[in-house]
Amino acid sequence: MRKAGKVVAEMHDATRAAVHPGVTTAELDRVAREVLERRGAKSNFLNYHGFPAVICASPNNMIVHGIPGRRRLEEGDIISIDCGAIVEGYHGDAAFTMGVGRISPLAEKLIRVTEESLWAGIAVMKEGNRLHEVGRAVQEVVENTGFSVVREYVGHAIGTAMHEDPQVPNYWPGRPGPVMKSGMVFAVEPMVNTGGPATRLLEDGWSVVTADGGLSAHFEHTIAVTEGGPEVLTLPD
Ligand code: MG
Ligand code: MG
Repeated sequence: MRKAGKVVAEMHDATRAAVHPGVTTAELDRVAREVLERRGAKSNFLNYHGFPAVICASPNNMIVHGIPGRRRLEEGDIISIDCGAIVEGYHGDAAFTMGVGRISPLAEKLIRVTEESLWAGIAVMKEGNRLHEVGRAVQEVVENTGFSVVREYVGHAIGTAMHEDPQVPNYWPGRPGPVMKSGMVFAVEPMVNTGGPATRLLEDGWSVVTADGGLSAHFEHTIAVTEGGPEVLTLPD
């Protein structure tokens, strides 16, 4: 899983470097494909329930699952890029959001708070803590700013499949979660909106947008619970 995580981190570096005004989201997908090919890794996104690409690219009010295509990014956009890889049967999964050129102060704050909320969740991923504490930590950071946490899409355990049980909600789920033990691996992925938490699925059957048109950001890492604390597998060396 460390190997898969490193490939995902490399996909992040490569796509991040390729984001500039005028680039299409299909070109970002191609850049990520080149990383997979170079590393001999497989895509866990491509053909997942028919998904046609190796990354999800979700601009502005799109929360997650955007299909890369002819859309050109413009100065002032924000773009969420979600990447995954399989190495030797094990999966990695991670996402980030960034601005395209100069962005609004609100967009900057959204990106900062969403990333902070992910790290607040990671900080409680210790043996003996319960999984719902992750979501509670995320939710506290987000709601203290007046932003909202998406409810309909959540994080997940990950291993020899991308999406394993249990789920990892980014909010208090109403009852205590399982106890975290060394060796468990989770993808934690807050999706944060400037407006309300409600979502809407577009007609392509994939793209999820904010119901109220507000901006949305998404950060995700794959993290192992270890005796020494949380180990983030999808960070670069
Ligand atoms: Mg992901
Ligand atoms: Mg995920």
